[in-house]
Amino acid sequence: MKGIYFKEPHNIKFKTDLSKPELKPDEVLVKVKYCGICGSDIESYETGALMLTGIILGHEFSGDVIEVGDKVKKIKIGTRVTANPNLPCGKCYWCIHDQENMCKDSYGLGLTHNGALAEYIKVKEDRLHKLPDNISYEEGAMVEPLAVATYAVQESGIKLGENAVVIGAGTIGLLTIQVLNAAGAGKIIVIEPVESKQKKALEVGADVVLNPKNWSKISKFTKKIGADHVFDCVAIPQTINNTMKIVKKGGHITFIGIHVEPFQVEGFLQLLLKNISIRGVFSYTNDTFTDTITLLEKRKINVKPLITKIIKLEEVPEMFKILSQLEHEEIKVLTKIQ
Ligand SMILES: [Zn+2]
Ligand SMILES: [Zn+2]
Repeated sequence: MKGIYFKEPHNIKFKTDLSKPELKPDEVLVKVKYCGICGSDIESYETGALMLTGIILGHEFSGDVIEVGDKVKKIKIGTRVTANPNLPCGKCYWCIHDQENMCKDSYGLGLTHNGALAEYIKVKEDRLHKLPDNISYEEGAMVEPLAVATYAVQESGIKLGENAVVIGAGTIGLLTIQVLNAAGAGKIIVIEPVESKQKKALEVGADVVLNPKNWSKISKFTKKIGADHVFDCVAIPQTINNTMKIVKKGGHITFIGIHVEPFQVEGFLQLLLKNISIRGVFSYTNDTFTDTITLLEKRKINVKPLITKIIKLEEVPEMFKILSQLEHEEIKVLTKIQ
């Protein structure tokens, strides 16, 4: 079968001779329709930090069930699906305390196991989620990144009417803006350098968009008090250090963006002097995945403006090179597999 093979950092290959997955009794074979390219795929492509080499990439996907294992009970052939790509053990301390995203074994489809940038993927039955009729396959491939934003907003504890600064208007930033609106946030201020993404942020519901040159203007838009909540979807040293400056005393910072390399923290004292609460969020739980599908089904979120390009499987390696550049125009690139 055709698929995208992660050989090593800076080296992914379009292959046509990959073997079609063989099912275990509790697994289902999905014929992949669409699969998104994620920021974490690019991070791994550049640093090798997150995904294992020697696997097929891709964890944001939709498709049709075409074969089921002998022990599969709930899912039938022909069902339209997406999947939670995390593969928790189900037995460790975190798994039995409803924190499967903290499982001691961080296994995942397109991470440690073969992913969905391929014609077929095998998935355990309990990881599959049915797509309601009003959610298209393209939208179905957006459920996974939307679950990241949904979880971040859920975990931030934001209350009705509280304002928020969202740093970065890439996929996760644009989804976070929309989830914040669905959650009843007050004013939403976005920091983004790329003009096309600034426009997109306003289109999906931001109230104010600022260039990173204008961090100091946040004060004006928050009545000189500072932001109730800050969501850093970029997490480069400059943004991380600025979060502590723009958040109000007693405010909350949520880190969603991934940062791998060490860097110098400025103004650490502010953290104490301002009573700041900081938290990182990673992935999402299976319950959040279900909540996310409901948000889409009820049309609380519009993922369509985020899809800037649809490419073919063979075009993926070239697209990874483009997406590796810090300031590109793409938001979500989907691969149409079949
Ligand atoms: Zn992703
Ligand atoms: Zn576990």
